[in-house]
Amino acid sequence: MTIDLEAWAKERGVKYFMISYTDLFGAQRAKLVPTAAIRGMQEEGAGFAGFATWLDLTPAHPDLFAKPDPSSVIQLPWKKDAAWVAADCMMEGKPVDQSPRVTLKRLIGEAAQEGLRVKTGVEPEFFLTTPDGSEISDAADTAEKPCYDQQALLRRYDVIAEICDYMLELGWNPYQNDHEDANGQFEMNWEYDDALATADKHSFFKFMVRSVAEKHGLRATFMPKPFQGKTGNGCHAHISVWDMEGKKNAFADKAMPFGLSAQGRTFLGGIMKHASALAAVTNPTVNSYKRINAPRTISGATWAPNTVTWTGNNRTHMVRVPGPGRFELRLPDGAVNPYLLQAIIIAAGMSGVQSKADPGPHSDIDMYKDGHKFNGGAKLPLNLLDALRFYDEDSELKRLMGTEFSSAFLKLKHQEWNAFCSHFTDWEKANTLDI
Ligand code: ADP
Ligand code: MG
Ligand code: MG
Ligand code: MG
Ligand code: MG
Repeated sequence: MTIDLEAWAKERGVKYFMISYTDLFGAQRAKLVPTAAIRGMQEEGAGFAGFATWLDLTPAHPDLFAKPDPSSVIQLPWKKDAAWVAADCMMEGKPVDQSPRVTLKRLIGEAAQEGLRVKTGVEPEFFLTTPDGSEISDAADTAEKPCYDQQALLRRYDVIAEICDYMLELGWNPYQNDHEDANGQFEMNWEYDDALATADKHSFFKFMVRSVAEKHGLRATFMPKPFQGKTGNGCHAHISVWDMEGKKNAFADKAMPFGLSAQGRTFLGGIMKHASALAAVTNPTVNSYKRINAPRTISGATWAPNTVTWTGNNRTHMVRVPGPGRFELRLPDGAVNPYLLQAIIIAAGMSGVQSKADPGPHSDIDMYKDGHKFNGGAKLPLNLLDALRFYDEDSELKRLMGTEFSSAFLKLKHQEWNAFCSHFTDWEKANTLDI
């Protein structure tokens, strides 16, 4: 049954709704709508000038309407007067095909027609910094190997426990929080769910972490590599496919290597086949390529992949199969668009299932130490332009992601790359002035 947002608000004392949609660059855009006006908005959507956000629309396009999906509504645990609700972009009564949440919903529908119900968990790492983002917020957090640092974790208890309390309250089943491998870096984990639910939670998590950090006079960043020499912000995705009732994990087969079923292997085969192209989505910014392909960090390892390889329980490859019935894609970073992350996983995996793709041989080596000896596995793209070109060459992935989406995404991302290239850097001066 569809939730009536007005009644829902009245029961809870909610005075305002943030009707929120995510554009192609992953920015969340919202209107703050009083409960007195939510009934009409639930039917029609909230109006926006689409050109003013990243959706590849012109100023001449008709209004964009962000139509709330009531199943995603959340009362803000830190501001009970207000609620957040994810919305789908509509124009003249039709879904805007290139918009991320619409793209994901279409792919979930296509996967369902093949009997595939994709469930995923994400691990969005973040740094807590000073308000201007220039340095980490804890001057005492200086260990060379800071991962799981008990003392530094406890110094940020007020922020981390507050966020975890909210996840408990929301019923997300959070189960652990830790200090990660870089000074100032943290990770919080909650239970996996259906791809759309995970995408909505992932979006809300970023909003919540930023909001709580700000409340405490700090700033949270998910930027892939905010500090040179320190481990970057990954956003690993754990993936499994279930029957349509969600009862039986179709990736689990104890008789198969690593407990990954024949279907799981073909889904993985699709991810491997399209990896260089899908990096344009999983690693979507100029800065993303300073995390993958990075030199060794101060802590000793980047924990990010650089080659298209897979393995068992070994964290130095692009894909890890940590145990039966799922695999972990370690490529995505903190800049990934939550909806497009899920969409590209489904698109590539579905292509693998349809074509019975073979993931190829796995590798057990330590890629950080012995990667140069390994001559299987393609190199991942070296920069954003490289990734965009791989994506553009992958006609199957472009088709599965949708032609409107793919052309809008490529156009805007090429513009971003060109803007970056026209920016003059200190490095150029330092290296070229006296030549
Ligand atoms: P690690 O750091 O070892 O990679 P985490 O515990 O940080 O693992 O994150 C694991 C994520 O995988 C969690 O979101 C968890 O709920 C999710 N997960 C566990 N089992 C499955 C599964 N069968 N399908 C999808 N995701 C899963
Ligand atoms: Mg106006
Ligand atoms: Mg983790
Ligand atoms: Mg981690
Ligand atoms: Mg992980």
